[in-house]
Amino acid sequence: MTDTTHSKGARTAFETDEPDGTQAKKREGYISWDDYFMGVSILSAERSKDPNTQVGACIVDQHKKIVGIGYNGFPIGCSDDELPWRRKADSINDTKYPYVVHAEVNAILNSTKKLHNATMYVALFPCNECAKMIIQSGITEIVYLEDKYADTDTVKAAKKMFDMAGVKYRKLEPRRKSIQLDFEA
Ligand SMILES: [Zn+2]
Repeated sequence: MTDTTHSKGARTAFETDEPDGTQAKKREGYISWDDYFMGVSILSAERSKDPNTQVGACIVDQHKKIVGIGYNGFPIGCSDDELPWRRKADSINDTKYPYVVHAEVNAILNSTKKLHNATMYVALFPCNECAKMIIQSGITEIVYLEDKYADTDTVKAAKKMFDMAGVKYRKLEPRRKSIQLDFEA
């Protein structure tokens, strides 16, 4: 089995260094919790059909257990092939905006338990509509990678509400630039 998630030279799960087959030390090069959960959110974004923006979200409870995952897409039963994905049109109803459910909201709706004091990992800083849902769900921390719409009114409103409600947010500085997944055994 090849394991490409760790740095070169780190031992694999099956590598042993004792004659009787036992390992002397724990494996080095394992990924951090932050990188792991952000990685899960980025992987779930790969499910998105949106041709322009793919966002995933991963919610984690206080015990480091994943309790919700989502990505941006249309509601259940609303066809990805019939509704528009475009961003501009004469009528807003011919764009994706009235229909798309953001990753953050899908992750909350898909959650398996109450989200009090949970943390949400999401690559892009949440918009104001998602911020409202995040606050109401009980999530108290946001970890993000990018805040490229920081100057927009929606993100300013999101931060205003997070600050008022005591929801913390922090930019993740990942320990590694990428994680490769290899499906070949
Ligand atoms: Zn949003």
